[in-house]
Amino acid sequence: DLTDPVLASEAELAFEGALRPKSLGEFVGQTRVRGQLQLLLTAATLQQRTPDHILLAGPPGLGKTTLAMIVAHEGGRPLRMSSGPAIQHAGDLAAILSSLVPGEVLFIDEIHRMARSAEEMLYLAMEDFRIDIMVGKGAGATSVPLDLSPFTLVGATTRAGLLPNPLRDRFGFTAHLEFYDEAELEQVLARAGTMLGLDADKEALAEIAGRCRGTPRIANRLLRRVRDYALVHGERADLAAVRAALELYDVDPLGLDRLDRAVMEMILTRFGGGPVGLNTLAVSVGEEAETIEAVVEPFLVRIGLITRTPRGRMATPAAWRHFGLAAHAPDTA
Ligand code: ATP
Repeated sequence: DLTDPVLASEAELAFEGALRPKSLGEFVGQTRVRGQLQLLLTAATLQQRTPDHILLAGPPGLGKTTLAMIVAHEGGRPLRMSSGPAIQHAGDLAAILSSLVPGEVLFIDEIHRMARSAEEMLYLAMEDFRIDIMVGKGAGATSVPLDLSPFTLVGATTRAGLLPNPLRDRFGFTAHLEFYDEAELEQVLARAGTMLGLDADKEALAEIAGRCRGTPRIANRLLRRVRDYALVHGERADLAAVRAALELYDVDPLGLDRLDRAVMEMILTRFGGGPVGLNTLAVSVGEEAETIEAVVEPFLVRIGLITRTPRGRMATPAAWRHFGLAAHAPDTA
């Protein structure tokens, strides 16, 4: 799906790599987080030490990986990239940690999915730059301390709430990334358009900005399809081209995609507008609860189509209207 904020493929990774801002100055939006990071990095430089560990929290595609790269780049530090699902044993983490060079930035994406045993090893590593390695088995096993090079951990998570407190507390700073507003997305698009050599007008970029769910990754992806459309039809990337291209790919004017629509239609028609619990909803649309909670729901809440209540998710009056079902709305909607 064009509007799935999760990275689609290796090809997309290469495309994104070319468009990734390399410094805080080039990074669009997230003004608060940028200011906070700038202060933290500058203070570390002045004190000639590695910056504090940083946790980046927020939905996919908002720039967590990009910021991790910037943290390394701004300080002229090497970067090691890994991810929670790749760290299934404490040994996997020990191998990474023991090979870091002084000052290296270690990026762990989806850090909430790391193995429990590795998580415990990370506590000591973050705090004292030290790990205990178990040598031998059974009654004869002993733990041998191993000093590490000082490093900066940058963890990324879509679910800050899932991190155990001892891990969360060991980050010196947590940045909460927010969805981008349309003016910011237009800047992201204008920058990418220039880099792609695309002749797009302002109206066209504004139309894409309105349909990309507040997410730079989706903005760039839609821009790429619009570029294809303009190329194939020998047209400029104007408003008409954007509308035609996005209609072709089933991205509606609010940026809702098939999964969003499936979720909304399920709440509205099958559950009478809710409240409906997350797991019931996920099973009904055949999707993982984690995807619904991390990706679909934040967007639907943000654009005012659903609300979260203690008893479950509920459709708002705006949702009944958007789907042309206002006549069926219960009195409470
Ligand atoms: P995931 O959690 O799926 O890894 P992410 O939050 O790490 O996603 P990134 O990979 O950093 O997201 O960003 C996706 C793409 O969006 C980047 O390649 C970059 O081109 C673009 N992008 C993200 N944030 C910005 C920004 N603030 N300014 C300009 N471009 C951005």
